[in-house]
Amino acid sequence: MGMLDGKIALVFGLANKNSIAWGIIKKLHAEGATILLSYVGEIMEKRVMPLAEEIGCTFVEPADVSKDDELDVLFAKVQERYGRLDILVHSVAFGPREDLGGRFVDISREGFKLSLDISAYSLIALAKRSEPLMTDGGSIMSLTYYAAEKVMPKYNVMAIAKAALEAITRYLAADLGPKGIRVNTISAGPIKTLAAAGVPGIRTMLKYNEKASPLRANVTQEEVGDTALYLASDLSRKVTGETIHVDSGYHVLGLTASEEDMKEFMAD
Ligand code: NAD
Repeated sequence: MGMLDGKIALVFGLANKNSIAWGIIKKLHAEGATILLSYVGEIMEKRVMPLAEEIGCTFVEPADVSKDDELDVLFAKVQERYGRLDILVHSVAFGPREDLGGRFVDISREGFKLSLDISAYSLIALAKRSEPLMTDGGSIMSLTYYAAEKVMPKYNVMAIAKAALEAITRYLAADLGPKGIRVNTISAGPIKTLAAAGVPGIRTMLKYNEKASPLRANVTQEEVGDTALYLASDLSRKVTGETIHVDSGYHVLGLTASEEDMKEFMAD
């Protein structure tokens, strides 16, 4: 018997086997959840279909999270086929390359709007459409990063999007709590994925995290998946509005870098 037997989970943000979403999906699926997938773009469709097959997923639908009409169509299909939803996973982010790296003051208005829309507002848009389907309560979760709390080099516009995402998590938790819907976000340490490749300096960041974090280790997709499983299940039934760090403890550190380390970091 699985912890999530009979539960329906809709997941946004699967791109390939390296995606954090894949680490989460494997854990939820292993505990009995029925997985529904949404992807954006034809390239993603080709990548996602074989993964869907691997877990026997028969609901694979397109939707750009920045397009309300596409989300309406998608959620209508969930309603029609399943009539309800228990778990929502938001594992989506996008920021234009020009607004990641470089100087923070140079972030463009357009880049700011786009990043905040796709990476933060989308959680509100998904939660709004999930609410009527979560008739028996539910668990909504997203993925954030420590750059929302403290300045991390080059993260720029995405840091602001993540700060908004974390605040949105708290407001949604307060709004949806009376309906038994919990909303949390997982602050994952750096992991090599497609999205991470767009952040300059990620290779050094991985090296550095491994060296400096209290547990002296990088985080895997599966380890994030374990925390997602906890959030999706009854084990976390009184936990909402939280930002949960899965980063080998990196966030508790004050001084993390020697001058030599910083030189190497900034040169990457
Ligand atoms: P990934 O590239 O595998 O996943 C990002 C996903 O976002 C992709 O599937 C992409 O198709 C989707 N996406 C982008 N724009 C979209 C749109 N308009 N509509 C629908 N989907 C869209 O990378 P990942 O690292 O697994 O990223 C997942 C989440 O984890 C992101 O929120 C990311 O910021 C967060 N995160 C990543 C790291 C890391 O180091 N990799 C660390 C902390 C948090």
